[in-house]
Amino acid sequence: MNAANLSADRCTSEHYLLPSSFAQQRWWFLAQLEATGSAWHVRLPLRLRGRLDMAALEQAVDRLVERHETLRTTLECRDGEVLQVVASQRAVPVELVDIGGADEAELRATLGALGSEPFDLAAGPLLRVYLIRLGPADHALLMISDHSISDAWSSGILFRDLAAFYASVTAGEPLSLPDLPIQYADFAAWQRDWLTGDELDRQAAYWRRRLAGAPCLVTLPGDRPRTPLQGNRGDRLGQALPAALTSALGELARAEGVTVFMLLFAAFNLLLGRWSDQRDLVVGTPIAGRRRSELENLVGCFVNTLALRTSLDHGASFRDLLVQVREATLEAFAHQDLPFEKLVEVLNPPRNLAHSPVFQVLFSLQNAPWEAAGFGTVTVAPAEIAAAGTSKFDLAVSVVEFDGQLWLGLEFNTDLYVADTIRRFGAGFETLLTAIVANPGAALDQLPVQAPADRLRVLRNFNPAPVALAGPPDPYQCFERLAESRPGALAAVCGDTRVSYQELEHRAGVLAARLLHAGARADQPVAILLPRSVDMLVAVLAVLRIGGHYLPLDPRHPPARLAFILDDAGASLLVATPDTARQLPGYRGRVVEPDLDGESVLPTVPPVTDPGGEVPAYLIYTSGSTGKPKGVRVPRRALGNFLASMTREPGLEATDQLLAVTTLAFDIAVLELLLPLTVGATTVIATDDEVRDPDALALRLADPRITVMQATPATWRNLIAAGWTGRPGLRLLSGGEALDGELAGQLLVRADALWNLYGPTETTVWSCCCRVADAGAPVSIGRPIANTRCYVLDATGEPVPVGMPGTLWIAGHGVALGYHRRPELTAARFRPDPFGEGAMYDTGDRARWRSDGQLEWLGRRDFQVKLRGFRIELQEIEGALRSLPAVADAAVLLREIAGEPRLVAFVVPATGTAAEPGTDGSSGSLAALLAGSLASSLAEVLPAY
Ligand code: AMP
Ligand code: MG
Repeated sequence: MNAANLSADRCTSEHYLLPSSFAQQRWWFLAQLEATGSAWHVRLPLRLRGRLDMAALEQAVDRLVERHETLRTTLECRDGEVLQVVASQRAVPVELVDIGGADEAELRATLGALGSEPFDLAAGPLLRVYLIRLGPADHALLMISDHSISDAWSSGILFRDLAAFYASVTAGEPLSLPDLPIQYADFAAWQRDWLTGDELDRQAAYWRRRLAGAPCLVTLPGDRPRTPLQGNRGDRLGQALPAALTSALGELARAEGVTVFMLLFAAFNLLLGRWSDQRDLVVGTPIAGRRRSELENLVGCFVNTLALRTSLDHGASFRDLLVQVREATLEAFAHQDLPFEKLVEVLNPPRNLAHSPVFQVLFSLQNAPWEAAGFGTVTVAPAEIAAAGTSKFDLAVSVVEFDGQLWLGLEFNTDLYVADTIRRFGAGFETLLTAIVANPGAALDQLPVQAPADRLRVLRNFNPAPVALAGPPDPYQCFERLAESRPGALAAVCGDTRVSYQELEHRAGVLAARLLHAGARADQPVAILLPRSVDMLVAVLAVLRIGGHYLPLDPRHPPARLAFILDDAGASLLVATPDTARQLPGYRGRVVEPDLDGESVLPTVPPVTDPGGEVPAYLIYTSGSTGKPKGVRVPRRALGNFLASMTREPGLEATDQLLAVTTLAFDIAVLELLLPLTVGATTVIATDDEVRDPDALALRLADPRITVMQATPATWRNLIAAGWTGRPGLRLLSGGEALDGELAGQLLVRADALWNLYGPTETTVWSCCCRVADAGAPVSIGRPIANTRCYVLDATGEPVPVGMPGTLWIAGHGVALGYHRRPELTAARFRPDPFGEGAMYDTGDRARWRSDGQLEWLGRRDFQVKLRGFRIELQEIEGALRSLPAVADAAVLLREIAGEPRLVAFVVPATGTAAEPGTDGSSGSLAALLAGSLASSLAEVLPAY
């Protein structure tokens, strides 16, 4: 080292003080934060077989330390400047560890455990040497160096030089290793000198441009939620690619004019992008950083990490991607001197301790020089070492070519991933590479990214096998049998009204007769517009009895909406009271009153019909994105399967009483009204007053005879806010909206059991369910119910791997017949099931499979929202607003305001409107108009809006 330009206090006979490299400087600061765990130790484990000369080994280590300044270096901070302290001499002891007679597993464990404590950067030494004795002619040698003075490439140098020294000492021959023309400190000084001013600006500008707008986080979706402070616990899996694939990859790289690294890197990005559902990716890759031949033989930390950005363009082929990756890689190599630590400074990404900055996934192809040097008469081979139990990144994949095969090492953070996920990811890489070799011109989105066995697992194993459910499949017949077998049992209660099974069946029969008399036809819906009452239930049963389908309506909905639905459904028969019928002044069809009093001649009760499973049981309206609600036709087969499945899980017994609180216009009322009647239990219909007032509802729920209640999270929250404290003996069903961990916790302490239920109207009330065991973690929506299949698919309709987000499609017995008189919409959302029989429905929900076969709900793909449990397409409200003359355009959002979900409308007034003063002289007329219109189009979520 040329020390001429060093001031006197920095240079003594014992040591010199020299500037540190950028990497060392960052390392020193990280060490002060105790962030340089053993994950970063550079380990070199070797197995030495043959008679070893301990004294010669110690001498060889001395010579090695003499040769490389870095092995005599420590770090120190003076006045904010991190300096290298290079000692002129330094003893590095060889520590002898005797595990005589130990087996291979013990050796692996010993190697893995030795020297894992952090290095003391100021005290040194930063190299540790262990000789592990297994027998007189059997040893392992472990060299561990601190990352501030070493890197993977350095390991090769350490090994080569140590072997040469050992050989010369034992042979008693002088050794003439070529002199090292420079040392690491020269490199550090050069780096500080060169990488300032213009060159720094040039390289920084390149990376700033290249990474502008890049995502901060690119990672596999985790098995476990990310913690606020990233941990570095890890594990490692190994995987070998077949020799034939290895050589095919080499040939393909040659044919395409790319390096094997570029080929593997392109494929890896495609895999990662598909698994993480991201098209814009930043992945780190280490680069040796020894661009000049003088640096090739030095031990030191030269390695730099490049943040390579890749874009998986829509419609691109793999060949296109290769071209992109080749250009990006070559450019990056031309700007490789900007140290990663400088890059972080330049980019200054938002500080987030939950993950590493700029990139979280690392990919490397090892090409460090490894010469098979002899160790005198001792033969040397790499030794197996137990995983260090650490991981530097979320995931680091390293590829080494060895023995004509590519070997993958997958190091992963165990705070995020379970080993099975990483195994499947690795298997997916092999499947993808195999497909690329077969067809490098394939479209990116068409290439497979999971192993066939894993694909089959999500399609088959995660879905229940078809089952024949007990009892008659037809919901009405089921009820009728119970009315026969247990006529006196209590079937329904509402207010003071109590009816037995026999009486309920009788009343349904009578109303059925009157409906037929009034001209009811199986192919036309019978609308029901009734207050909450036993009559409401009678009406539903009567329609089912005649093989017809009912159209549920809520008297609290705005008349205009009711009128639209009646008209769209083509309903010419309405069950209503004189009171509710008044809401529909324009209705011209027939009205049948449920009240039997005053009718002298009763028509004969018709026999129960079995119309088969493919006729609709009900036609129910749900929010539509075109501005008008749409009707869903749900067949009897779906209703029957749903009820039969629910009797198994969550389960209901004849002794249960279920409190029904949901409007008939929401399909989940089907469970509340009909499930009890399929098992001989009782449905307790909460009155209109009770459902409107949380205090009254809480009081009702205090009745110890009630054992089950189903509600949306919004209703549960209202109850809790009203001071409802729950009680033992209650089972709670929550559904219709995401159940968050906090609410789950509040419910769990208020009842014996809590279930989360999930399902769109189009697949019949609930399609998945699970019992919630503990609060906190994201609540899963569970598994598909009986005879139901869930598929999580990507945009091309391929099942995505476990853990990866995709669109949830639902197939099986629950799938509806389609939308009423909306063939295009039906064709868009209902498709033939390519993996099984029948149709599958596109829910528009984003979901992912957990590795235990449970589904997790992630959100919506569109603008559908849930407000207090009600499904609303925001476009429907926008459409209603736009139809007002005063409104030119409108946009509606769901926002949380003061802890409450609120709809917020942004409105562009039609020309002239805003200037119009209101009657009171203010200019508030438009706002009032809008509020009124919002109110009427959203009456079901009023009064707050
Ligand atoms: P609806 O047709 O009114 O039942 O609404 C169905 C939609 O509500 C689903 O597609 C989901 O977006 C949402 N949903 C229903 N149940 C749940 C649940 N348990 N967790 C999360 N979202 C749910
Ligand atoms: Mg639903």
